[in-house]
Amino acid sequence: MLQCSLCGTVVREDSLLWRCVCGAPLLADFSGTPPMDRSRICPAEQGMWRYASSLPLEKPEEKVSFGEGWTPLVREEWNGMNLFLKLDYACPTGSYKDRGMAYLVSRLRDQGISEVIEDSSGNAGASMAAYCARAGIRCRVFVPAYTSEGKCVQVASYGADLERVPGSREDTTRAAEKAAETVFYGSHNWSPWFAHGIKTFAFELWEQLGFTAPEAVLLPAGQGSLVLGCALAFEELLSSGEIETLPKIFALQPKNCAPLEEAFRKGSPSPERVEKRETIAEGISSAEPVRGRDVLAAVRKTGGAVLSFSDREIWDGFVKLARRGYFVEPTSAIVGAAAEMLSRDGSVGGKRPVAAVLTGSGLKGSGKILSLFSSPPED
Ligand SMILES: *Cc1c(COP(=O)(O)O)cnc(C)c1O
Ligand SMILES: [Zn+2]
Repeated sequence: MLQCSLCGTVVREDSLLWRCVCGAPLLADFSGTPPMDRSRICPAEQGMWRYASSLPLEKPEEKVSFGEGWTPLVREEWNGMNLFLKLDYACPTGSYKDRGMAYLVSRLRDQGISEVIEDSSGNAGASMAAYCARAGIRCRVFVPAYTSEGKCVQVASYGADLERVPGSREDTTRAAEKAAETVFYGSHNWSPWFAHGIKTFAFELWEQLGFTAPEAVLLPAGQGSLVLGCALAFEELLSSGEIETLPKIFALQPKNCAPLEEAFRKGSPSPERVEKRETIAEGISSAEPVRGRDVLAAVRKTGGAVLSFSDREIWDGFVKLARRGYFVEPTSAIVGAAAEMLSRDGSVGGKRPVAAVLTGSGLKGSGKILSLFSSPPED
């Protein structure tokens, strides 16, 4: 069963609706699935599928997977902060999106869908294209024309049809929604399943930290899938009694496009309208996050915050991470900027672990990174 996140309307799971008739996103009903606890872990399964008991499928043996997940967790001391970096750029297509896509595309196969449309700033499209190639599902990916070449080449190489749309990220979404009048719209942002795949990174954090929750989690946020996945996971662990408090979630946005941060600061329940400017954090440049209300509520519930950073700070974060041996895309480097700020003002963590996800590989954007070295952002 699917249910509207706003008006509560119930929609059948095999329906091809991708949003409620009222326009709001749908949520999946997981009330029949027991919350994760350590007795439910399945060590015989590969990667994130050790938590398969929290990812229900009609035919679990036919899931669409490359063994994604169970990525390394590496400790760094960052100005005295006890920082744990989750290396999700080591996923099969080079970004954390693979966790959500493995579950989403498995669901599409359960439903017998043979053709799908996705729109993306790049990494989700690449991931969808790879998982559809594995599942034998035809895939059309819409990306903004400014998307890094590496990501476009990757989408096309997997055999998906690539549509480059001039204009903004929002123009890309409108083009995809138009095309979706005749083909199933598998958008990861609207999907009720995607965030449940993402939640596995947080189960891993908990297990890799010796079955404890970190004090705080630093997450890049555009649409907010990491925030939603993180909240789902730790809510499950709280309700099964595995942890006693939710970790504080810090959702990180570029100053040049920060609708969630503005709303957080003003105390409003839904994303603010913003005048979006170009940013080096292309993967989180989302002016209209479709689940923004839920993202804001999730952050507030944990006592965390939504913070924003200038391109200059994000670039400094990139350089600091790279000098320690992490080659991530500039989008992901926003966690370096946040670690820098929070460790210096001492407000978060103390000696307790703070976790951060490194979401995407720098290899896809090396052309852009090269030009940033010669002309770094000024503010
Ligand atoms: C997609 C993406 C994000 C953030 O995802 P949202 O769900 O839009 O918040 C962060 N980093 C990278 C590298 C991404 O590709
Ligand atoms: Zn509704």
